[in-house]
Amino acid sequence: SSWAEVDLNESIREVVALVRHIFQQERVFIEMQLDDGVPPIRGDKEKLKQVWLNLLSNAFDAIGADGTMVIRTKLCKHRRRVVVTVADTGKGISQDHMAQIFDPFFTTKPVGAGTGLGLSVSFGIIKDHKGKISAVSPAPVEYLGMGQEDGRPVGPGTVFIIELPLTDEGL
Ligand code: ADP
Ligand code: MG
Repeated sequence: SSWAEVDLNESIREVVALVRHIFQQERVFIEMQLDDGVPPIRGDKEKLKQVWLNLLSNAFDAIGADGTMVIRTKLCKHRRRVVVTVADTGKGISQDHMAQIFDPFFTTKPVGAGTGLGLSVSFGIIKDHKGKISAVSPAPVEYLGMGQEDGRPVGPGTVFIIELPLTDEGL
């Protein structure tokens, strides 16, 4: 893997392009709200794309069919970081599971459907970038943008919040 200047918005667009049509077959729609002011960060683009793919795949599994996910980037200039959020209108995460979701091999999916490694690997990748990843469920409506405007019944939803520092100190 290689460290370079990564355009986060581009890394997200590339992953969304991979999954958009597959998700649409179940009427699951991806909305991107990408902040044009996000500067490049020092990182490993392929690893970060793996994180976005893991989060979008999990969001898709949580929705099943008929729903929306919103992936957003936002520059937080003052605190010298970029915040990426991935929100979905899926079934949500119960409080007793919340403490375990980043554990290796933790899965609530049927045998063969999930390895339970996606979030643990993602956690490690974000940590390698000196960032943080956390989850909130139910997803506060502010993260879902216009995703619920069609009035269809949706789940409580989940949002994953990733913070990546802009400085490359210590990397
Ligand atoms: P896997 O997807 O193989 O189960 P992950 O590490 O990607 O493994 O996720 C672990 C567990 O966290 C999932 O089985 C699921 O219970 C929960 N989870 C992760 N993302 C979401 C989400 N967006 N909505 C609801 N549950 C989720
Ligand atoms: Mg997964």
